[in-house]
Amino acid sequence: MSPAEQPTVLIVEDEPAQREVLAYNLEAEGFRVARAETGDEALMLVDELAPDLVVLDWMLPSVSGIEVCRQLKTRSETRSLPIIMLSARAEEVDRVRGLETGADDYVVKPYSVVELMARVRALLRRTRPAAVGQRLEFEDIVLDSETHKVFRSGKPLKLGPTEFRLLSTFMEKPGRVWSREQLLDRVWGRDIYVDTRTVDVHIGRLRKALCQQGGDDPVRTVRGAGYALG
Ligand code: CA
Repeated sequence: MSPAEQPTVLIVEDEPAQREVLAYNLEAEGFRVARAETGDEALMLVDELAPDLVVLDWMLPSVSGIEVCRQLKTRSETRSLPIIMLSARAEEVDRVRGLETGADDYVVKPYSVVELMARVRALLRRTRPAAVGQRLEFEDIVLDSETHKVFRSGKPLKLGPTEFRLLSTFMEKPGRVWSREQLLDRVWGRDIYVDTRTVDVHIGRLRKALCQQGGDDPVRTVRGAGYALG
């Protein structure tokens, strides 16, 4: 996986040893990892890094994990951000459920790292399918993120690496309109400075590549907003 394709997981855990074990395992699975020790820091990092998933401890100093979860699930920009809540006891999980914080999954401590990784992957399969090696389909286009191959009506297409990442971003959410800035973040990564016009250049190449075997241009330009697939 190239850096821009790797999903970012934010770990929110105040216990250094537990945080590092999690970070080590997530990095070994190929994820980018960000760490927060407090609820406030977590909320700040979510805005700054736009992670793909949050592993959130219930017991945190000052702002609790439940409050962080509640806040993230209330805001429209972060509502669909998957959250796995960690809690010390099974009764707490019942309480979290009862409070309807909106956490997507719950894991009781001490947890098995293998199981937690499986849950991380399961949630990302739903939200970032291309990043976890899924096969994506849109109309007559098939993208295999494991073999990095793209087919249209069964015929293989030649795509450059940037066009491949653009297409997998589009195919994860057909119909969604992406602004040029959002595409830059997702496809090129936040750390690199790239002009937004570069996006237009690569969209042009992607369109050409998708039509190399015939067929209509499936990429839609949304005036003043950006681009969408379908
Ligand atoms: Ca804790």
